[in-house]
Amino acid sequence: MTKLPLENRVALVTGGTGGIGTAICKRLAKEGAVVIAADRHAPNVELPEGIFFHDLDVTQEDSVTKLMDSVEYNQGQIDILVNAAGIEIEKTIEDTSLDDWNRIFAVNVTGTFLVSKYALPLMRKTGAGSIINFGSYDGFIADPQLAAYCATKGAVHALTRAMACDHGPENIRVNAICPGYIDTPMLQSFFGDSGDIESLQQAVRDVHPMRRYGTPDDIAGLVNWLAGDEARYASGQLWVLDGGLTAQVQQMRL
Ligand code: NDP
Repeated sequence: MTKLPLENRVALVTGGTGGIGTAICKRLAKEGAVVIAADRHAPNVELPEGIFFHDLDVTQEDSVTKLMDSVEYNQGQIDILVNAAGIEIEKTIEDTSLDDWNRIFAVNVTGTFLVSKYALPLMRKTGAGSIINFGSYDGFIADPQLAAYCATKGAVHALTRAMACDHGPENIRVNAICPGYIDTPMLQSFFGDSGDIESLQQAVRDVHPMRRYGTPDDIAGLVNWLAGDEARYASGQLWVLDGGLTAQVQQMRL
């Protein structure tokens, strides 16, 4: 039987039951990896073969170390880490409380730091690894009313480069995917639940050169490439996947 590209690899995906995380877990499992989907809540559907759920709060150091102990005991190694857990708070800085600010930094930035920190020893065991963080196009340019979110994604971009510098010499590659609008619960929450949402969504589609938003599967395709051997020289980069949205001149935007 032909060997699958990610056979014998172990992948840990945080936010693994979220919109993008679910698609990533399925894709990596399809490519042969054993996948641990780690998230705050177990999925309400049965997971496909090769995907195992583990509860995780990325903001809590003891929750992260408990997960790593379990992975070390059950799978023995980590080859691929995807830091996809994230939250969004839709506010200007004046409306953002200090609690809001600390909460979003705890998940998006501290979570990426903690999970990566404790995954590294398990990654070193195989002499190679790929860490894929989640930035955003909002780490480069800003949407209105997403001030703290934009700040967290800028921090993830900087952290990605720093981690790539530190761990490249041990053959651990670190990249960030920076999505544009991807159709998930997070995007639905961004659109809200009042007013003419369909017209707003159509306007957003129309402003994209590709005339649609991205899907979680679009993102999973790039994760699969960055995780695998074809990307063996790719590290320290911020991979924007936005249907051409940010390639346009400013006047073309909404
Ligand atoms: P979702 O809200 O669908 O999924 C995020 C997942 O992260 C949820 O399952 C959520 O659990 C989980 N999570 C939140 N807090 C924690 C925590 N403390 N510990 C563990 N898990 C946690 O979002 P997406 O799938 O859309 O987003 C995935 C990543 O992509 C995020 O980093 C996001 O910022 C980024 N991104 C998304 C874009 C989009 O348009 N969708 C655009 C640009 C970037 P719960 O449901 O319980 O909160």
